[in-house]
Amino acid sequence: MPMPEVENDLENALVGAPNHRRADKRTLPYCSIADSESLALRFPQTIDENLRHQIIAYADRYDIQTGLLNFHSFQAELDSAIRRAPAGTEIATVWIDLLNLRREFALWGVDAAGALTRSVANVLQAHAQSDALIGRISGRSFAFSIPAPRSDPAARRRLQDVMDALLQLGAAGCEATPEVAAGVAFYPSDALVAEDLLRFSSLAAARARYTHSSSVLTFQPGMKKLLMRSHILEVEIGKALERNEFSMLYQPKIDLVTGKVLGAEALMRWTHPEWGAVPPSEFIPIAERSALIHRVFDFSLRVALEYACRWSQLGIAPSVISVNVSAANLRRDDFARRVRNLMAEFPISAVELELVVTETLLLDDEELFAARMRQLKAIGVRLAIDDFGTRYTGFNLLKRLPLDTMKIDRCFIRGIHRSADMRMLCSTIIAMARHMKLRTVAEGIEEPEELDVMQQIGCDAGQGYLIQRPVDPDDFIAFLRKWPESSRSHGFTNASELCHVDHLYGIA
Ligand code: C2E
Ligand code: MG
Repeated sequence: MPMPEVENDLENALVGAPNHRRADKRTLPYCSIADSESLALRFPQTIDENLRHQIIAYADRYDIQTGLLNFHSFQAELDSAIRRAPAGTEIATVWIDLLNLRREFALWGVDAAGALTRSVANVLQAHAQSDALIGRISGRSFAFSIPAPRSDPAARRRLQDVMDALLQLGAAGCEATPEVAAGVAFYPSDALVAEDLLRFSSLAAARARYTHSSSVLTFQPGMKKLLMRSHILEVEIGKALERNEFSMLYQPKIDLVTGKVLGAEALMRWTHPEWGAVPPSEFIPIAERSALIHRVFDFSLRVALEYACRWSQLGIAPSVISVNVSAANLRRDDFARRVRNLMAEFPISAVELELVVTETLLLDDEELFAARMRQLKAIGVRLAIDDFGTRYTGFNLLKRLPLDTMKIDRCFIRGIHRSADMRMLCSTIIAMARHMKLRTVAEGIEEPEELDVMQQIGCDAGQGYLIQRPVDPDDFIAFLRKWPESSRSHGFTNASELCHVDHLYGIA
C-alpha cells in the first residue's frame, strides 16, 4: 500500500530543491508510470542521499501519481497472494480501462488528466477492503484483485459497485465523467498465475469496450478468438477490397400513400472465399477503426452510383439512391469534396444521392457533423438520419442539421399494431419530423399490420421485408417490374403509376 510519508517527502524534496521551480506530483507526466531510473534523473543531486534512495525505492514499487502498486509489484503481489491462498480460494482480478484519459489530456491538459486518474484511484481505494490489491497497470489501466468466488452473487455485486461508483463520479460533480470498460478473470478457473489473470481480464475489458458495456464482463475463452477474429478481419477487409469480394444489395423504399417506389437503399455485402457471408454489422465497425472505412465508403458510393446511373439510362430509376455513411467518413475534412468528385464520375441527372447517417454518431461531435452536413447539402446531397429514436438526439440538434429525411428505427415498428404506447410514440416522432419539415421513413416493416399502422399515423415512406428484402441489381429490376401487380396485395390501388418500367417490360 502507498507510503504517505515518502509521498510527502517527495513533494517536499521537489518544492525545496534549490534552483528548481515549484513542482508537485501533478507535473509528472500523466500518462507515464515513472520508473525509478527516470525519476532519479528528475532529482537534484543536492537532496539527501538517504531520501533519494527512499524515493527511488518507492517508485520501484508504486505509481507515483496515484500511490497504487505499479504493474510489476501488482503482478508479484498477486502471485504471492495466489501462493498463500488456502485450497478452495477463488480470486477475482478486475482490469479497468479509463477510456477518456487521452481526450481529457488533449482537451484540458495535464492537470485535468491527472485529476481524472486520481479520482479513479480514490474510488478504487475507497472500495478496497484489507483483502484487496490495487494497481495502476499502465497510463490508463487499473487493476484490483479480491478473493471472490466466481458464482457468488455478493462478490459480483461488490465488483459492480466499484464500476457504478466510477461511472457516478461525474454525476457527483467531478469535472469529467470517467468512461471505463472493465473485465474480470478468476483464479483458478480462468488462469493460475497473475500474468494470465491480467491478460485475460484485459481481454474481457477490451470486449466490454467494444460492446460499450457498463458491466464488468467476465472473461470467456471465446473472447480471445473474437479479438483475434477482429484483428484478422481488419487484414481481410483490405484484401477483400482488392479481390473484389464486396457487393451491394438494394432495398426499395416506397411511398406509403401511393405505393410508388421512391428510392433504393444500397446495403453492402461481403462474401469471403472461405468464411462465406460476413454481415456488415460485423465488418463495418472494424473498418471504422482504421482508414479502411474510407475505401469501403468510396466502394459503396461508386457502385451504388454506377447502378443508379444504369437504371436511370434504362429509364427505370427510383428517384433517390441512399448510401450509408460512417462517423469516421464524416470526420474527414475533405469528405464533401470526395463525394462531389465521385458523383462527377457519373452522368446521373434523374437520380438524387441521399447519404444516411446514423443517429448515434451525431451525438459524438455535434458541431463537426453539423458543419460537414452543411457542406454536403451545398453540393446537392440529400441527408437522412438513420435509426431515429435509438439514442437521444435532442430536438435542438435536429433543428440545426440540414436534414431531409428521418428514418424511424425498426425497434419502434416491430409489433406496433399490438402496442398503443409504440403507436403513440411513433405518432409523436412523425409529428415532430413534420414540424421540422422532414420526411419520415419506417424501417424494417415485416407485417401487413405494421404497414397499416404506419400508413394510418401518417408515416411518409417505408421499407422492409414485407415489401422486398435487399436484393442484387438484377433482382431489383425484377422487383420494379413486379411491384405494380404485387402492390395491390398491400392495398395500393393505383398500380400503373408505381414505377416507370412499363415501356421496358410491356406492363400494361
Ligand atoms: P441500416 O442502415 O439500419 O440498414 C437496415 C438493416 O436492416 C439492413 O441490414 C437491412 O438488410 C435490414 N432490414 C431491412 N428490412 C428489414 C426487415 O424488414 N426486418 C429486419 N429484421 N431487417 C431488415 P444489413 O444489410 O445487415 O445492414 C446492417 C447495418 O450495416 C446497416 O443498418 C448499416 O448501418 C450498416 N451498413 C450496411 N451497408 C453499409 C454500407 O455500405 N456502409 C456503411 N457505413 N454501413 C453499412
Ligand atoms: Mg441505414
